[in-house]
Amino acid sequence: MTGLSDSFQRPVNYLRVSVTDRCDLRCIYCMPPQGIPLMPRGDILSYEEIYAVVKVAAELGITKVRLSGGEPLIRAELAKLVAMLAQIEAIDDISLTTNGVWLKQRAAELKQAGLRRVNVSLDSLRRDRFERITRSDNLGQVLEGIEAAKDVGLRPVKINMVVMGGINDDELLDFARQSIEPGWHVRFIELMPFAREQPTAAKFVPLREMKERLGALGTLEPCLPAVGNGPAKYFRLPGARGTIGFITPVSEHFCFSCNRLRLTADGGLRPCLLADDAIDLRRALRGRRSLEEVRRLIQEAVASKPERHRLGEGLGPKSGAMAQIGG
Ligand code: SAM
Ligand code: SF4
Repeated sequence: MTGLSDSFQRPVNYLRVSVTDRCDLRCIYCMPPQGIPLMPRGDILSYEEIYAVVKVAAELGITKVRLSGGEPLIRAELAKLVAMLAQIEAIDDISLTTNGVWLKQRAAELKQAGLRRVNVSLDSLRRDRFERITRSDNLGQVLEGIEAAKDVGLRPVKINMVVMGGINDDELLDFARQSIEPGWHVRFIELMPFAREQPTAAKFVPLREMKERLGALGTLEPCLPAVGNGPAKYFRLPGARGTIGFITPVSEHFCFSCNRLRLTADGGLRPCLLADDAIDLRRALRGRRSLEEVRRLIQEAVASKPERHRLGEGLGPKSGAMAQIGG
């Protein structure tokens, strides 16, 4: 194995896999109330097909896999997929991004199958507001899911909050306090302008402003991440056991260190979250030359990774919803 690197000499070792475009929530920045048009079931990759892609990708140099969606925990027997991927020797980190609603029920079996850690998306700690943002009343279940994940050893649990000015930005300090006690690892994510859904009332809150406001709780000392090598910049408040991370695709992009590819639920391989191009692996998987072709297409996707996204020039993705690509 020689490892993968793109035409800008960036090593590529991380694959995000959307296992379904279906979701049990309807977050206002991700989906309209009626949901998005669904991929035909027959187009969604089977676990055997996902395994085949990851196996070939691992032979080429991928070492880390994150399962996402839609909501990955609503796909039947997800632990079975985790166990299959855990057999691939070169994969040393399998993680999950979830809305947390079913986490309490699934945490133990996922851990046993080989899942290492989990990120939970949570945009409000207030029941009424959680309902407004997710169009569901599952806050209690999500909080229980976070505890259950910690209890079974899926650590660290990272909490991802998309910061929306005028909608939940007044909770920045409440989330940051959770890093002090009970020691959460909180990450504040800038709202990305995605093709289909933008909460019209939401104002963009840049990194600079978030940091200024958090100054009310003390000096943010730069620190290393609890685990992982993603795009977040990490800090710690005085006396905090947990960390605060910022993910800033818009105000301070991190394309220069991008190490990832994304596999959509229907087998599209996207070199960049914020560009429309996707390479069709499903046809190759279901065709006669299959794995050889999959290998060639993965290399092609790596070679075609763009240098950076073009959000700053008003050029966002036009196709695919976040729930189809996996975030
Ligand atoms: N359903 C799972 C969840 O919510 O964690 C996984 C899929 S979701 C698409 C993955 C991540 O994308 C979530 O953390 C969500 O908050 C984030 N996301 C979705 N739309 C976004 C947007 N417009 N800007 C920033 N983050 C977004
Ligand atoms: Fe579902 Fe995740 Fe999108 Fe919310 S952000 S609607 S939980 S896919």
